Amino acid sequence: MNVEDKKILVVGFARSGLSAANFLLKRGARVTITDTKSEEDLKDWIAQLSKPTTLSLGGHIREDFLGADFIVLSPGVPSNLPELLTASERKIPIYSEIELAYRFLDGKFIGVSGSNGKTTTTTLIGELLKSSGHDCVVAGNIGLPLIQWVDTAPRSTSRQRTFVVELSSFQLESIEKFKCDIALLLNVSPDHQDRYEKFADYLHAKEQIFLNQTSEDFAVLNADNPFTLKMASHRTAPVVLYSRKQDLKEGVFVHNGSIQVNWGGQQQRLMPISEIRLKGKHNLENLLAATAAGFLSGVDREVMVETFRTFAGLEHRLELVRELQGVAFYNDSKATNMDSASQALQAFTEPLLVIMGGKDKGADFGVLRPWIAEKVKLLVLLGAASDKISQSLGSIVATRRAKDMKQAVELAYENALPGDTVLLSPGCTSFDMFDDFEHRGRVFKEMVNQLAETKEI
Ligand code: ADP
Repeated sequence: MNVEDKKILVVGFARSGLSAANFLLKRGARVTITDTKSEEDLKDWIAQLSKPTTLSLGGHIREDFLGADFIVLSPGVPSNLPELLTASERKIPIYSEIELAYRFLDGKFIGVSGSNGKTTTTTLIGELLKSSGHDCVVAGNIGLPLIQWVDTAPRSTSRQRTFVVELSSFQLESIEKFKCDIALLLNVSPDHQDRYEKFADYLHAKEQIFLNQTSEDFAVLNADNPFTLKMASHRTAPVVLYSRKQDLKEGVFVHNGSIQVNWGGQQQRLMPISEIRLKGKHNLENLLAATAAGFLSGVDREVMVETFRTFAGLEHRLELVRELQGVAFYNDSKATNMDSASQALQAFTEPLLVIMGGKDKGADFGVLRPWIAEKVKLLVLLGAASDKISQSLGSIVATRRAKDMKQAVELAYENALPGDTVLLSPGCTSFDMFDDFEHRGRVFKEMVNQLAETKEI
């Protein structure tokens, strides 16, 4: 693909948009960047541009879209923008940054998508491959945007580089040639109802991860999720299923308390699940998916076992912050939808005091009722969704409202007894009060540590 002198519109100016713009500018493209945010709001990103270029900020101009040779769409931008729909009708190509990067990269691609568990599973696969000596890069929402790897020369030319890429449904919406050698779809559950009018549209975007696959590739799917199981029957690539709940003739599953791999006539017992360090059955599912990818990539059994024994998980995902006088504090700030929040509730046997709330994405909090009723002593509500959560769950659990994270942590702690757990698992995005989920998680940890200082004096 030659982009020199091409008129290219980058829509959405943040991490991915900046990387795409700099990449294209370096190759002599005529780049315009558009965003609804103002120049003032975007000044930090503008400062990182490698050279000055046309900016069309504070809203979108139709002509920018219609005059482009092609459009690069950042993951956060809704694909149903009227300007994008018109451009699409006029057959102007619209690519995600992943698609653009793919056209310039050489190597093997392992793609991971799903409503939840993408970052954890992508990281785990990266650990497996790195530990077994592969030239492997983890990219997407974690690490560098994929496009930045085009200019990073492979460490050795003799070995093929493997890109393990976390793929959101937004990135998958705008792909054309992108193809995964191994595509993993972990689960699909309702999410982003604010962006997808119909669940079928969301399903379709997720299923795009298998686009362009051939019989030489592999499709890895979760047999325990009804939506992904259904997709298994439509694949061109050989399907590798995994299951936490049932024995499979072929695939990766739990049998008599151990992980078992049955594939290509081989039967291998990997390890007892009691030796896995990660908490929660959802993480067991992530690990089974990673096992499939590891196995298909030729990773040795010993490397897998050692990695799963030691991998402690990621920041902001069921992360143990500390214990204070017998009360444990967990940061699960990344839980921004109902499935991840419910998995967190299910991962504990201890009585829970849960901090929930934030900016609602149109979720139905009622789905949490069984676990709230069974385990939660107190629900501390924070942020814009407080009223909605209270209406939905207030009749089955005691609720208190907090004005900020400091008060939320204090309220939870005051009502906790030794042996209880305080869990931040918001079930909402963070944008009403914080920059992002990382910021929210860091503030939570800071407040917990401040509380510890006052209590330990
Ligand atoms: P993603 O990148 O898809 O958002 P993460 O690995 O960052 O996934 O985890 C996001 C949230 O979802 C965390 O709260 C985590 O505990 C929870 N989670 C992780 N894996 C799963 C899974 N397989 N099913 C449901 N929830 C999960």
